[in-house]
Amino acid sequence: MNKKHLLYFNKLLITWYNKIMNKKRENLNNNYFKNINLPDLIDKASQTEEFNLKLINTDRENKLIKKIENTIKKIKDGKFGYCEYCYNKINIKRLKIQPIAKLCIDCKKISENLIN
Ligand SMILES: [Zn+2]
Repeated sequence: MNKKHLLYFNKLLITWYNKIMNKKRENLNNNYFKNINLPDLIDKASQTEEFNLKLINTDRENKLIKKIENTIKKIKDGKFGYCEYCYNKINIKRLKIQPIAKLCIDCKKISENLIN
């Protein structure tokens, strides 16, 4: 991968990261987790569900943020674009679709087969 590609992915990842962080900040400002303990019992079930959904979303977001951070670090360390399993280069088309990919497509398929 040449320097131009690295700069491209670095910019892409930082833009993505900032977008998620801005959304998180917005959610905080809009009291994303407000109205949790309303006394109305009828609303309670739906609110618990809503709260759980928000927690799941927050958890997913935090994991994604961590993955983006790690990938930005990999660019700095010169490890970006290499499969973490077989150390071969990951296809650039794959990285354009999934910049945080850790595995090449072959290893990804193998790992999916192992899980299924
Ligand atoms: Zn691989």
